[in-house]
Amino acid sequence: MRYDIRDQLSRRDAEITVEIDAPAPMGTEIEFRGNVTGEVTLHNMGDEIAAWGHLNATARLECSRCLEMHEVPMRLDFSEACSFAQIDEPLAYTHVADEDESAAIPILDGETVDLSELVRQLLVLHAPQRSLCRPDCNGICPQCGTNLNNGACDCGNEDVDPRLAPLRNLLK
Ligand SMILES: [Zn+2]
Ligand SMILES: [Zn+2]
Repeated sequence: MRYDIRDQLSRRDAEITVEIDAPAPMGTEIEFRGNVTGEVTLHNMGDEIAAWGHLNATARLECSRCLEMHEVPMRLDFSEACSFAQIDEPLAYTHVADEDESAAIPILDGETVDLSELVRQLLVLHAPQRSLCRPDCNGICPQCGTNLNNGACDCGNEDVDPRLAPLRNLLK
């Protein structure tokens, strides 16, 4: 997600739109299928670089009930503050550590504009924390672990061990 646009963008009020079509950046701790695509507009505001646009990605997530991997399409619209700071610069975030949200995201790798840190943060921020493989997922049997989407197990629902009942409800 590197673009040779630093010179053009370094002028105040300069505005550039770039296409994104690349594998998800490292460090999201989420598995994605295919490329992240979208469009990002960068605008030099003087003290910072405003970035807005949209991204599309397909996350592969574990079902919150049955633990099967399934694909979740993500489409996100965003508006973020970025800065001409080096992505690898250890101090890039220090002034925001106490102010949490208002962190300007660094977008430079050497002399090149690199949007991977911006995209990484957006994907992490917008990935669903909880996801079902399908709305009526039956989950797994709390006693034998059978995936109940594939059919009933032999445990029988009537005589669930009372000690496991709370767990069973949690899985619903
Ligand atoms: Zn499921
Ligand atoms: Zn069972």
